Amino acid sequence: MYIGAHVSTAGGVERAPENARAIGANAFALFLKNQRRWFDKPYPPERVRRFKENLKRLGFSPEYILPHAGYLINLCSPDGEKAKKSFLALKDEVERAHLLGLKYINFHPGAHLNRYSEGEALKIIAERVNEIIDQTEGVVLVLETTAGQGSNLGYRFEHLAEIIERVEDKSRIGVCIDTCHIFAAGYDISTEGGYIKTFEQFEEIVGFEYLKGVHLNDSKTPLGSRKDRHAPLGEGYIGLTPFRLMVNDDRFRSVPLILETPEPERWREEIELLRGFQKANKGEVFEDKGFKPPFGV
Ligand code: ZN
Ligand code: MN
Ligand code: MN
Repeated sequence: MYIGAHVSTAGGVERAPENARAIGANAFALFLKNQRRWFDKPYPPERVRRFKENLKRLGFSPEYILPHAGYLINLCSPDGEKAKKSFLALKDEVERAHLLGLKYINFHPGAHLNRYSEGEALKIIAERVNEIIDQTEGVVLVLETTAGQGSNLGYRFEHLAEIIERVEDKSRIGVCIDTCHIFAAGYDISTEGGYIKTFEQFEEIVGFEYLKGVHLNDSKTPLGSRKDRHAPLGEGYIGLTPFRLMVNDDRFRSVPLILETPEPERWREEIELLRGFQKANKGEVFEDKGFKPPFGV
């Protein structure tokens, strides 16, 4: 299993691999530029060279790195100027990922701000994605599931399926499941039965061939609350059940599993907890009886 977290790039993108290594990760996420600004300076060539060198030296493979696009992007913004900026900003993120030798860029589908119907907005998003794919190369655009806060789309698997359906080059579109977001959107993964049912639906509606990553978060707010509030694993309304199941589920074996939990100083322990679950189910080393989770469950 490829497990990591969304690590800091303070000091430059080339620092991310070391930050991931420091928490015992073999996968990671990062921002490719300041996530709260529309645009940023291009990378100096030296920075790109050091990023690639650090990946290689520390043994990270691009398949398990899932960069996250900036927060301002809204491909279906009803505001003409913001729509234009969103298009250019996401295109720039794709180009940055490509320059760094990465394969994916994760982004939130968009919010219609009550100016479009959901159907119209999904169509606009797909059109913009097609244009970006046409004007760039090599990188898969990864749609993240959302909690459905406000008018955000992506809170039903059908939304993602609808966008994928309209994208011409299917080799360049993918999805990322965020456990907090889907739970807040109403998919009850907190029990084994609910986990089985949710991922059966995902397979039927979207298909695991499109899965490029998972964000691992517990939720501070209840099932169906449509709020996006991450909690440390086991400390929210979801609990540990789906995480225990996921790290032993072959459908998640070849994608990066990325913590976005709120306390970075605990990521190392959270990764160890997940690794422990893996061994537990395989009957190796670890014995359930004496096990004490590193934090309250
Ligand atoms: Zn996100
Ligand atoms: Mn997320
Ligand atoms: Mn979130």
